[in-house]
Amino acid sequence: MHDFHYRGEELYCEEVPVAQVARRVGTPFYLYSARTLARHVRAFQEAFAARPHLLCFAVKANGNLAVLHLLGRLGTGADIVSGGELHRALMAGIPPERIVYSGVGKTAREIRRALEAGILLFNVESLPELDAIAAEARRAGRTARVAFRVNPDVDPKTHPYISTGLERNKFGIPMAQAREAYARAARLPGIEVAGVDCHIGSQLTELAPFVDALRRVKALVEELAADGHEIRYLDLGGGLGIPYRDEAPPAPADYARAILAELEGWPQTLVLEPGRAIAGNAGILVTRLLYTKETPRKRFLVVDAAMNDLARPSLYQAHHEILPVRRAGPPVGPADVVGPICESGDFLARDRDLPRFPRRALLAVMSAGAYGFTMSSNYNARPRVPEVLVRGERFAVVRRRETLAQLVRGESIPGFLAE
Ligand SMILES: *Cc1c(COP(=O)(O)O)cnc(C)c1O
Repeated sequence: MHDFHYRGEELYCEEVPVAQVARRVGTPFYLYSARTLARHVRAFQEAFAARPHLLCFAVKANGNLAVLHLLGRLGTGADIVSGGELHRALMAGIPPERIVYSGVGKTAREIRRALEAGILLFNVESLPELDAIAAEARRAGRTARVAFRVNPDVDPKTHPYISTGLERNKFGIPMAQAREAYARAARLPGIEVAGVDCHIGSQLTELAPFVDALRRVKALVEELAADGHEIRYLDLGGGLGIPYRDEAPPAPADYARAILAELEGWPQTLVLEPGRAIAGNAGILVTRLLYTKETPRKRFLVVDAAMNDLARPSLYQAHHEILPVRRAGPPVGPADVVGPICESGDFLARDRDLPRFPRRALLAVMSAGAYGFTMSSNYNARPRVPEVLVRGERFAVVRRRETLAQLVRGESIPGFLAE
């Protein structure tokens, strides 16, 4: 469910015509709906209300300060994967006691910062990483609460690049090594064993892999309890999918029902790390048609946004719906929507049955609120695009378009080149 809809011929975000924002900020730009974000957070909170839980939004899906601030005000925490994301989460006002830190390669510096901030939980992905966290904790005179991310070896049946819970993936520690790892953690000064964590992948459209993973985690928690560990947090990661086209992923309520049914009588606080399910359908990328190029083989709609602005189509063959900002005539046959970048992989959509558009028509690339701006780059020396947040009848630029000066900031030409 989202708040991008037509009124008459015009596409709106909540009460704001998308074309009005385009006139103000130029194109391309990301446009987010505060109402959609809030609705998605509440859907999770209500679905899990029956038991202690903490919703930690995955910052890598959308790290804009205004978005994080809004989510924080609604009570969510953050799941971070870098020191940069820690900085963002704290700047946005998310309390450290609602922050969990995931990722396979935390550096000593990042660990130190997270300890200083006083985050809730480190999700640890290897024994050497555990040692590094313990060393930093002792140096800082602190105790690090940890959960091991275990790899339950279940197939999430999603794109291989966003599948993380199989034994061949780099993530987590194998189930078979978990008890030994917890025993070692319990002996380490500076470490407090607090939870078990798993995250099996992203854009899951079925419940079965979540339930399979949870059953394996439960079996482990029973063993750990028998070994004398006190497991207070069960972190089930993120991964719930969204409809990009005709998928019908479970709603948060269905997801919650399946999980809560497995956890009757289990007292642990549930930690959930949804990213895409909160932000994906709460944002669009708005782009302008530059040229229509007809070849004997194909029609190309050359637009001003490209793979550097939205990488998902090129990277994962992901599907994003293309909607006209002002309704056009009937579809006239297949077209590719492509950007100006010098790569054949630079496309936003392929072989879509689309209308004929007037020159400079505005197009909306839908479902771009997660892993859109955060994955964008400066490839081809393209300044990163602005982000705009709508709430009701109001909108604000929550990140300005990069300038050419910012594009080369920090670069210099050393004197010895002139010798
Ligand atoms: C990416 C990621 C998430 C969020 O995944 P979504 O599919 O966006 O819900 C949560 N936890 C971890 C550890 C991740 O790497």
